[in-house]
Amino acid sequence: MNPADMPPIETCDVLVAGAGVVGLAVARALALQGREVMVLEREATIGTGTSSRNSEVIHAGIYYPAGSLKARLCVQGKQMLYAYCAERGVAFRRCGKLIVANTPSQLAALPAIVERARANGVDDLVLLDRDQARALEPALECLGAVHSPSTGIVDSHGLMLALQGDLEHAGGLVACHSSVASVRVRPEGLLVTTEDGTRLLARALVNAAGLHACDLARCIDGLDPRHVPIPHYAKGNYFTLAGRAPFQHLIYPAPEPDKHLAGLGVHLTLDLGGQAKFGPDVQWVARADDLQVDPARGDAFYAEVRRYWPGLADGSLQPGYAGMRPKISGPDEPAADFVLQGPAVHGVPGLVNLFGIESPGLTSSLAIGQAVAALLA
Ligand SMILES: Cc1cc2nc3c(=O)[nH]c(=O)nc-3n(C[C@H](O)[C@H](O)[C@H](O)COP(=O)(O)OP(=O)(O)OC[C@H]3O[C@@H](n4cnc5c(N)ncnc54)[C@H](O)[C@@H]3O)c2cc1C
Repeated sequence: MNPADMPPIETCDVLVAGAGVVGLAVARALALQGREVMVLEREATIGTGTSSRNSEVIHAGIYYPAGSLKARLCVQGKQMLYAYCAERGVAFRRCGKLIVANTPSQLAALPAIVERARANGVDDLVLLDRDQARALEPALECLGAVHSPSTGIVDSHGLMLALQGDLEHAGGLVACHSSVASVRVRPEGLLVTTEDGTRLLARALVNAAGLHACDLARCIDGLDPRHVPIPHYAKGNYFTLAGRAPFQHLIYPAPEPDKHLAGLGVHLTLDLGGQAKFGPDVQWVARADDLQVDPARGDAFYAEVRRYWPGLADGSLQPGYAGMRPKISGPDEPAADFVLQGPAVHGVPGLVNLFGIESPGLTSSLAIGQAVAALLA
C-alpha cells in the first residue's frame, strides 16, 4: 500500500497487549507512575483468558525453588494482594490450606516442604500429625499434614475490575476488540498494528498475552526469534461437587517426591460462597483453545480425592471447567520459571515479554506489575 493511503498513526507512551490479571496489574503500576497507558485486549471484555479459569487461590509461596521469580514474586505478590484486596474491597478469605500425606513417601517429604517454604520466606508452616490434622478437618484421611495459614482465596474477577478501575482513574484505558497483529521495531518506537488496521506508535510495549505471548512475540519484526520460547499447553480440568464439602481449608495432596509435577495435584478448593471444586489435573494438549472437560476423566478424580476424603459419594462430581497453563517447559522437563524479558535480554528498547506466567501468576500479579514497571523505568 502507498504510505499516503495508510491509516494515520496514533501515539501512546505505553501499550500493554492483554487484559488478563497480569496485563491489568502491569498497566495499573505504570499508570500510577504517571505514564500514559493503553491496554489492547483481543476479546470483548477483560479477563476472559486464564485469569478466569483458575483456582483463585492466593498461594503462600511454598513449592518454588528458592530465589526463583516464582518464589519471590509469589511471596511478595501475596502480601501485596492481601493488602490491596482489603483496601479496595475485593472479596477474599485467608482460609488456610492443608498439604496432606497419604503415603509413607509423602509423609517423609513433609519436613522438606516446610524447609523449602522457609527458604522462600514463608515461615508460618506447621507440621501436623494425623490427629492434629483431623482435629482441624474431621472428614480428612491422612498420615500427616502441613498447615499453611497464609494461603487464601480471592475473587479474581473483582480483582481485575479493581485493577481496571485504578488504571482508568490514573488516566489509562482498556481497548477491547483490539488484537495486536504485528509489531515493528522503529527508531522512534514500537509500531503496533491491530487486526482492524489501527496503527499505534508506542515508546514501550508489554506483551502480556498469556497463552498467546509466544505467538505474539513471533510477530515482532525486530525481535530475534531465539528469545521466544516454544509454548506448551497443559490443560487443567476441574470437577465440581454437588452439595457442600465438609472442609474449611483448601486440601492439597503432598507432591510425590522426585516427580516433575506440572501442577499441584488434584486438590480441593473452595470458592467464596463455600462451594467446592476439585482439580486441576494435568492433560497435555496440542491447542491453547482445547478447553472442553471430558466427563470420562471423572473416574481418576474419584480415586485421587478419596485418598484424602474417603467420604466422597458416588455420583457427586460433575464436569466443571478447564483452564490452560501457558507452559514454556514440556511434559518431561523441570517446570520453567516465569520469564520477564526486558531490553537487557533481547536488545529491543521499550519491549517487555512475559512468558510462562502460569500459577502462581494470579497471586504474583501485583508484584509482576511492579517488576515490569521497574524494567521500563
Ligand atoms: C488451571 C489453572 C489454575 C490456576 N490456579 C491459580 C491459582 O489458584 N493461583 C494463582 O496464583 N494462579 C493460578 N493460575 C495461574 C493464573 O491463572 C495465571 O498465571 C494468570 O491468570 C495469567 O494471567 P495473564 O494476564 O498473564 O493471562 P490471561 O488471563 O490469559 O490474559 C491474557 C490476555 O491476552 C489477550 N490476548 C491474547 N493475544 C492477544 C493479542 N494478540 N492482542 C491483544 N490481546 C491478546 C487474551 O484475550 C487474554 O485476555 C492457574 C492457572 C491455570 C491454568
